[in-house]
Amino acid sequence: MFDFDLYIYPVPRQPANDVMPGKAYEGEGVDRVNGRGRERGGGRKGAGGGRKGEVSSFAFKTIKDRLPVILSKIADTVYRSKVKVKEENGEDGLEDLKAIVGSISKLRNEVQTNKPVIPLVDDRSDTPVWNRYLTEVTERDQAPPKWFVSPWLYVECYMYRRIQEAVEKCKLLQKYDVFEDQKKKALMDSQDAVEVLFTYLKTIIHKVPSASEDDITEYVTEFIQISLWGNKCDLSISASQENAQTESILDQLHHLAPNILIDNTQQVLKRLREGLDVNQDISIVLDNAGFELITDLCLAELLLACGFTTVIRFHGKAMPWFVSDVTMRDFMWTLETLSESGHEEMKYFGNLWKNRLTDGSWIINCHDFWTLPFDYSLMKNYAPDLHKLLSSSLITFFKGDLNYRKLVGDLSWNTTVKFETSLRGFHPNPVCALRTCKADVVVGLQEGQADEVKVKDDSWMVNGNWAIISYCGKVQPN
Ligand SMILES: [Mg+2]
Repeated sequence: MFDFDLYIYPVPRQPANDVMPGKAYEGEGVDRVNGRGRERGGGRKGAGGGRKGEVSSFAFKTIKDRLPVILSKIADTVYRSKVKVKEENGEDGLEDLKAIVGSISKLRNEVQTNKPVIPLVDDRSDTPVWNRYLTEVTERDQAPPKWFVSPWLYVECYMYRRIQEAVEKCKLLQKYDVFEDQKKKALMDSQDAVEVLFTYLKTIIHKVPSASEDDITEYVTEFIQISLWGNKCDLSISASQENAQTESILDQLHHLAPNILIDNTQQVLKRLREGLDVNQDISIVLDNAGFELITDLCLAELLLACGFTTVIRFHGKAMPWFVSDVTMRDFMWTLETLSESGHEEMKYFGNLWKNRLTDGSWIINCHDFWTLPFDYSLMKNYAPDLHKLLSSSLITFFKGDLNYRKLVGDLSWNTTVKFETSLRGFHPNPVCALRTCKADVVVGLQEGQADEVKVKDDSWMVNGNWAIISYCGKVQPN
């Protein structure tokens, strides 16, 4: 059972000068001199409310501009699927569809007019967890959370959970994924880039058996960077506008390399090489479907080929999430699409990877914890089974921005705080964050580095053109 009394807020609670919305927050490792280390998002900083009314913050812009656009696009997409839905499900299906559109429109109005967050009313297994959390926060603050004045991480996750609620309440369309068409299109539009990448991967895999240690270093470094920059493709950041990879990522790697602000690849490689002597799986916590997933699968294939592990465990989402995040169904149709492709290499890897799922060298899990609003320092309490699973992995790669925000608690850290500090006790086993920067939080930079990059690119923190490979080798599973 969860101890909600201890985990009212998904942030470290002590020591703190205050923990109320709109106030500064201090916890272990935050910079108390400049007052940073406040929780990002509404109440504490940002989503409009912050104590200084930080209406220019990225969180505020996200909630004011980006989320309503995403919701409008969903309503539009759902509405346009009515002919197909009617064909497949008849009039009852159409009624479901109308109900989804109605719920999404209502939700958009709630966001735009800063209404209080309301309890979920569906029967999904995680509903009591969400509602209990809402009750605790409401009792503590003596008012319910609101869109512009509550922590960004919470309200943004809540929005996607509410979208799922609209679907859960359906009679016939309970498996409907409002983002599926967009995700499929993102992969279809990336086919040329996928084919180039696959051709290259196949060449490298053939070289691995006779490769020197330096060669292996080079290959792994390259495919880590491919997976890293694959994260530039994100439909939730582009507010669901088209976001496919149309150029060869291989041509871009050299050009993009100087934009990697933190590069702990050597430490990652050292850890991977420890895997040569033990039998531990490697976990990859996925972010987006489409081209990014392809780059993650390529990294997985290379890690297997190099002998660092015999099992790759992927972690996806248990429901449609942040527009483009990978669900079990996305994972499956991606492999199916590849195996049915007319492109030779796509067909080859599609079939190879379907077999990997069958023979157990690839596993995909979709734990509910990934779609709760809690940061990862709380995993041990909310999802001890998942924490245990990660502690059995040689290393866990966390892809993308939301995973990063949840790793560091979505706090406004000083940029020079150590990555290890920002994890606040989340050390199931070594972790590596592969993330292009799309939210205004980053840790582990050198003194002065943030100022230097800001001179080059004013929106470096949020435009996805800068990236980090951050590793923490600390292990503290219990
Ligand atoms: Mg995503």
